[in-house]
Amino acid sequence: MSGFKGLAVPGPTNMPFEIRRAMDVALEDHRAPDFPDFIKPLLADLKKVFQTETGQVFVFPGSGTGGWESAIANTLAPGDTVLASIFGQFSYLWVDMCRKFGLNVDAIECEWGTGVPADLYEQKLAADKEHKIKAVLVTQNETATGVTSDVKAVREALDRTGHPALLFVDGVSSIGSIDFRQDEWGVDVAVSGSQKGFMLPTGLAIVGVSRKALAHRPEGGLPRCFFDYQDMAKTNADGFFPYTPATTLLRGLRASLDMIFDEGLENIFARHHRLAEGVRRAVDAWGMSLCAKEAKWNSDTVSAIVVPEGYNANDVIQTAYHKYDLSLGAGLSKVAGKVFRIGHLGYLNEIMVLQALGGAELAMRDVGLPFTPGVGVGAAVEYYAATGQAEALAAQ
Ligand SMILES: *Cc1c(COP(=O)(O)O)cnc(C)c1O
Repeated sequence: MSGFKGLAVPGPTNMPFEIRRAMDVALEDHRAPDFPDFIKPLLADLKKVFQTETGQVFVFPGSGTGGWESAIANTLAPGDTVLASIFGQFSYLWVDMCRKFGLNVDAIECEWGTGVPADLYEQKLAADKEHKIKAVLVTQNETATGVTSDVKAVREALDRTGHPALLFVDGVSSIGSIDFRQDEWGVDVAVSGSQKGFMLPTGLAIVGVSRKALAHRPEGGLPRCFFDYQDMAKTNADGFFPYTPATTLLRGLRASLDMIFDEGLENIFARHHRLAEGVRRAVDAWGMSLCAKEAKWNSDTVSAIVVPEGYNANDVIQTAYHKYDLSLGAGLSKVAGKVFRIGHLGYLNEIMVLQALGGAELAMRDVGLPFTPGVGVGAAVEYYAATGQAEALAAQ
């Protein structure tokens, strides 16, 4: 088919040409004497994205899933209790991984479309007088349902109960796109990956680790090797890695960070909110609803859109892909066939969102969903037109 393919899934996201160009380089010697001149500022700059000064950010070859594993393997021991909640495929998979590592997981089952139950966490923490809970898990942005949770509220629950458990956050589809404050929220391990907000190919696990987590090495702790924080910290201190890093991706990461700082984190968060709001207006206009049960859960990086009863969301996704070259996100697990997802994060502007909405409308019309073509796109256009004014004028 002629023309660009549309990529409207919540990761991998669209890669800017600047980043692509930055990676079109000859392979290089990762033990070269001047390699640290590249690595040290890169690692220091990553800390700004995680909003941490006291912690460290490690970059492993891998993906977000590897980042989860690193959090578990470095800080916990078999049989340790972990407090978690399940409200979508990603929060479920992290719990599943904990179980595979032999941890005792107290996983609160929540309705899909809601998020982390900070109040229930607080009750459980308060009741845990012996401090058996060693880590508390929060999926900041549940990509399967388009739900964002309140990390700060969980920090406050830990503080109010005086509970010493580590706080782990899955920020794979939020860090660099939605506000995330590692130091302020006292997050001990924050996990991200390269192919979402960082606008890179898949291949890096990017993990923010607090001093507390780095020092936390329990007796009889889980075995770790590839993801060992200590080994990484030791070699990173000199600007090197314990094994061959994904150097080409790191060149891309440099370009990504330059773009992020150029725009500014605050502006990036505001852009994501505005673009997401356009999608929400469109969904409203279609007469459909989000998987997110209440506005407070709405995610600014991904929207999971529930198709009306009697229709299969996979038909919309298949049609969009085969007929219009547009990738929409599928519903995973419990919401398979019930939702399709539009990813709106990373390198994105109004016209790219309108392309996704327009492509979704084409496919929805083909499938026979009850809506008037154009109403969703129209609602987003109206919203962007009304809200872009100030910025557009300022830029003149
Ligand atoms: C994508 C994603 C993951 C998994 O990351 P991979 O890079 O696919 O391993 C984990 N958690 C969330 C919230 C995600 O969006």
